[in-house]
Amino acid sequence: MERILIIGANGQIGSELVSALAQQHGAANVIASDIGADNLYGAARYARLDVLDKDALARLVEQEGVTQVYQLAALLSATGEKAPLKAWTLNMDGLLNILEIARERVEAGKPLKVFWPSSIAAFGPNTPGDAPQYAVMDPTSIYGISKLAGERLCEYYHAKYGVDVRSIRYPGIISFKSPPGGGTTDYAIAIFHAALKGETYECFLGPDTTLPMIYMPDAIRATIQLMDAPGEQVKIRSSYNVAGVSFNPRELAGAIKAKLPAFEIAYKPDSRQQIADSWPKSLDDERARQDWGWQSRVGVDEMVADMLANVQVSVDAAVQA
Ligand code: NAD
Repeated sequence: MERILIIGANGQIGSELVSALAQQHGAANVIASDIGADNLYGAARYARLDVLDKDALARLVEQEGVTQVYQLAALLSATGEKAPLKAWTLNMDGLLNILEIARERVEAGKPLKVFWPSSIAAFGPNTPGDAPQYAVMDPTSIYGISKLAGERLCEYYHAKYGVDVRSIRYPGIISFKSPPGGGTTDYAIAIFHAALKGETYECFLGPDTTLPMIYMPDAIRATIQLMDAPGEQVKIRSSYNVAGVSFNPRELAGAIKAKLPAFEIAYKPDSRQQIADSWPKSLDDERARQDWGWQSRVGVDEMVADMLANVQVSVDAAVQA
């Protein structure tokens, strides 16, 4: 039986991962945690936890007999640029705390499986546009630098201490349940809210900025599939490229306009453009497909239809409130 701890559970990914894991393992075996007191998404079990407090984290893991940790707490690309040292401390020390606890537990014969996400931000301007699994990686944002360093730490802890750590380089994730956390791909969520409120969407990226993206159900499926894969199939312990869909704001606006003909978009690139320009346009995920059978399922049109239907529900609820 697995006992699962999710750190950063009130965030965009955590809010959805908690319910998916609760369905799979039973709600009583899934502990959602975040830095605040609020259990925002109704998890059956919730603990207030600061990932930077290693002793509290180690105590919780021991008391609950945790066997899997998903470490999602981080400052994302756009937010990170506003507070680079804070981003570095949270992103690196949060991961190191988990890896150290996992190392101690390997030594104690009570192994802890760890999931930690990297990002397309670990790539940089000299990475090929269709990023291979192994490529030049010269990230320019503090967030990307922390993700690349984190990938190296994951591989190091696996090779040196036998820690069972697994990772995915997530593309920009699109979802409707909770707000995005301050990344460069957030436009691809905000655009749906504007479209359904009948507003012109002012996009902070230019029309031709193609980026790798993934719809949340695919991202959750990839995460759980990787964590459930037999250890010998997980041959890459830094982080796996996982692809969903690639599009730019003009193409996304076109797909929305096909359903909502009155929708208009305007372009006003800001500092996030520079970050986006340093990232690849797509990811080659051949290794994830070969090693543990990854295959994306959701295309752009299906994603747009699903987003419009679900964001409509929240727009209607806001109007009634
Ligand atoms: P988010 O910002 O929505 O959520 C992060 C959560 O961490 C928040 O609920 C926050 O309260 C919590 N947190 C912050 N500091 C904490 C601390 N000290 N202790 C405990 N919790 C703390 O982020 P997200 O979009 O859910 O991303 C989760 C992970 O996935 C991050 O590592 C991020 O880098 C990675 N990722 C996300 C995307 C994306 O598009 N969302 C893409 C690539 C990688």
